[in-house]
This record gives sequence, C-alpha cells and structure tokens, in this order.
Amino acid sequence: MNSPSLPPPLPPGPECYCTVCGTEAPTKQVMFFQHIGAIILMFNRHIKGRMCRSCINEYFAKYTAITACVGWWGMISFFLTPFLLLNNLIRYLFCLGLKPGPHAPATGTVPAMLVLLVVGGALTVLAGVVTMALNR
Ligand SMILES: [Zn+2]
Repeated sequence: MNSPSLPPPLPPGPECYCTVCGTEAPTKQVMFFQHIGAIILMFNRHIKGRMCRSCINEYFAKYTAITACVGWWGMISFFLTPFLLLNNLIRYLFCLGLKPGPHAPATGTVPAMLVLLVVGGALTVLAGVVTMALNR
C-alpha cells in the first residue's frame, strides 16, 4: 500500500522576503508613520512594505515612540497625532500573530510591547477625557 506523498514545497515567493532587511521569513504588508510637530513646521516620515516580525517590532516601536513624544507640538500636529498613533497601533496589533523567521528570532518584541501598552493606554485615557468633556 502506497502512502500518499505530499507535494513538494512551493519555492519561496516575494512575500517570503522582508523588503527592509532581506531576511527570508513570514512577512506582512505594513505602513507606519512618524510625525514630529515643530510649532509651525511638521516633519513626516513613513515606512511601507512587506516586513518580517523583527523589522515590524523595530519600526513600530521607533516611529510610534517618537510620534507619541514629539508629535503633538503644533496646531495641526495636535489633531493629526492621535490618528497616526492609532494607525500604528492597529497595524501593529494585526501583526502580533506573525511568526519570526526560522533563522532570526523576533527581536525588539519587549520594547514594541511596551510602546503598545503605554501609547495604547494614553490614547484610551485621552479618549475618555475628551468624551467626558463633550458630555458636560
Ligand atoms: Zn526584516
């Protein structure tokens, strides 16, 4: 009796390579924003592409922490920053199930989780304060 043979594994496609570091690993399409408000000036930066878990951790933590600290300083920036932070948080949450590659462990998970908790908590408090102020 013949045992059923499995089909050969598919060759790695472009979705298997991180566009940032080039590592062969599971990837996900993401876009993170960094915003710096400087009273009358604004400095924007974003990164977009299929990234591995380590690069997602790194760029989420870096871009979100910088935006949370110095994104608010300007009239337009003050109203823009919460939406950019929310974008980064939601996109990062959708990447939590992404496994690290077989050759590279997911580095930067702890700082990324710390940023997620602190910024997510701060945004929740801010939303509560705004809701209470509007209901007065
Ligand atoms: Zn990468």
